Amino acid sequence: MTPQPHPQAGAAVKAADRAHVFHSWSAQELIDPLAVAGAEGSYFWDYDGKRYLDFASGLVFTNIGYQHPKVVAAIQEQAGKLATFAPAFAVEARSEAARLIARRTPGDLDKIFFTNGGAEAVENATRMARLHTGRPKVLSAYRSYHGGTAAAINLTGDPRRWPSDSGTAGVVRFWAPFLYRSPFHAETERQECERALQHLADTIEFEGPATIAAIILETIPGTAGIMIPPPGYLEGVRALCDAHGIVFVLDEVMAGFGRTGKWFAADHTGVVPDLLTFAKGVNSGYVPLGGVAISGAIADTFARRPYPGGLTYSGHPLACAAAVATLNVMEEEGVVEQAARIGESVLGPGLHELARRHPSVGEVRGTGVFWALELVRDRETREPLVPYNPQGEANAPMAAFGAAAKAHGLWPFTNMNRTHVVPPCNITEAEAKEGLAALDEALSVADEHTAR
Ligand code: PLP
Repeated sequence: MTPQPHPQAGAAVKAADRAHVFHSWSAQELIDPLAVAGAEGSYFWDYDGKRYLDFASGLVFTNIGYQHPKVVAAIQEQAGKLATFAPAFAVEARSEAARLIARRTPGDLDKIFFTNGGAEAVENATRMARLHTGRPKVLSAYRSYHGGTAAAINLTGDPRRWPSDSGTAGVVRFWAPFLYRSPFHAETERQECERALQHLADTIEFEGPATIAAIILETIPGTAGIMIPPPGYLEGVRALCDAHGIVFVLDEVMAGFGRTGKWFAADHTGVVPDLLTFAKGVNSGYVPLGGVAISGAIADTFARRPYPGGLTYSGHPLACAAAVATLNVMEEEGVVEQAARIGESVLGPGLHELARRHPSVGEVRGTGVFWALELVRDRETREPLVPYNPQGEANAPMAAFGAAAKAHGLWPFTNMNRTHVVPPCNITEAEAKEGLAALDEALSVADEHTAR
């Protein structure tokens, strides 16, 4: 579809938005949301006909891009057949979505509890863990994001938690490994891994293992900076959980369904959690859907005892039909393999090449279509380009970077001093190269803010 300019229609959309829509995570009068006229594949466009290559995949969810004809058709077909139905029934789209998801989840994570998104998945996973173990506490990592609802925001180790923190009862936060800004003053991955595991073991001992229901980690923390854990770390956490009867929850809401070049990020390690939370990529975000994949042992806890949790729209037929179509497309079109290939042959080498030329890039890290550039004022000291959790003017260098990317037709994902490169998993080589060229221009603007 070729974008056509319709500035008047755009102005009306914008006016109604400004008058009546209350936006997430925002000071309502300080934002200026772009009015979006349409989207297809890796692109979207505004009412002036300006097109953007979406290197953010929406909010890291359009894993097969926008408006895939097979997924759109499946939603339309399901709407014509059975648009909605209550959760306590066996419905074809729901059964089939659960079967296809269970086929891909690691180990014996074969039962699927459906939610409307990631935060609800985290709420339910931690509730299942507490009921399964009869223990009260959950351990979660600083530098993490688990969602905006009550339990999920408390588990989150991110400044977004602070203003809405409703108390930390039952939540203990610990440091997970991140060598570039090591909380353990480590110099090698091996040191970082050993010290992070020792710190977690000490935390468990001090809190009392018999009080801990679960440890929740993003397999690869996403929003907080795409920090791939050092080899052996997740295996070590698994061993600590096994030693103390603690439920291991891996949050794959962002990393799952192809983003890292495997179906799940856990597949890079062979570690099997007891519970795995998912959302976003499961149906490319076409209709809200998330869920928890549950191990046999935890599912057994609720075999003859009711699970005290549920949602009116759990396993909504439209969302599940979109998931079935998305998972089939991913398989038929080799989307996971495409993400791995683009990461290895285009994005990885391309981003490292940009880092060599741009002093504002402190570190490049990632895999598949899941990358972050850590932007710095000074490479030697690693001083971030903007301070932690920048407000207002403090964010000016990142705002200038973002504006430059948009001027060059690239919609970036920026968070604090980072830009993440998280395009759809089925982005083509030509599109990825187009995005790298736009990033090159935008990084020149970031370079102007370095302390060279
Ligand atoms: N968990 C992770 C790892 C996420 O990245 C997110 C959202 O970005 C969530 C949970 C929350 O998901 P949702 O916004 O669908 O509630």
